[in-house]
Amino acid sequence: MSIKFCTQCGHPMTRQIPQDDDHVREVCASCGHIHYENPKMVVGTIPVFQDRILMCKRNIEPRKGCWTLPAGYLENEESVQQGAVRETLEETRVEVRILSPYRMFNILFVDQVYLMFIAELLSQDFGPTTESTDVRLFSQSDIPWNEIAFDVIRETLDDYFKDRGNARHYAFKPQDFGFKIKDLEFSPSSGGVIADTLF
Ligand SMILES: [Zn+2]
Repeated sequence: MSIKFCTQCGHPMTRQIPQDDDHVREVCASCGHIHYENPKMVVGTIPVFQDRILMCKRNIEPRKGCWTLPAGYLENEESVQQGAVRETLEETRVEVRILSPYRMFNILFVDQVYLMFIAELLSQDFGPTTESTDVRLFSQSDIPWNEIAFDVIRETLDDYFKDRGNARHYAFKPQDFGFKIKDLEFSPSSGGVIADTLF
């Protein structure tokens, strides 16, 4: 997010490359303050209960009315694990326990990094919130694939069910769900994104 006025002195900001820098920044000509913009971190979970996963129907734009996994911006003074658990609680009302980190996505065209964990439900006491009009457990065959809010969520779900199909254990084992970093790119032809596995 660019800013119009200096957060230190209120003077209008100008866009320029500061000395000894290689990026265009908002710079205050009055006090010299530089406003740095960096990517935002989004953290979330795949909340698992037996052979089903918990999803929420978005009550907020963008993609209001579509289904998603609980995820949101990491707060200051919060670990990525704490953020993922908090976002899950805020969007589904249910407490989860993190089992394993699962997917990280570089999404350069929106300046975001996503980190999705596999988590287990600690109760079945979930339900709608101000952020979700509906919260439901889905088995693999019931997932509303045509109403998934974001490509990053579709990719995460696709991978999860592929890994689960190949899992050699009935109980959750982290080695069946290997951590990967993927790069999502904007695709003008499909209007969506394509994904390349980096690690
Ligand atoms: Zn200033």
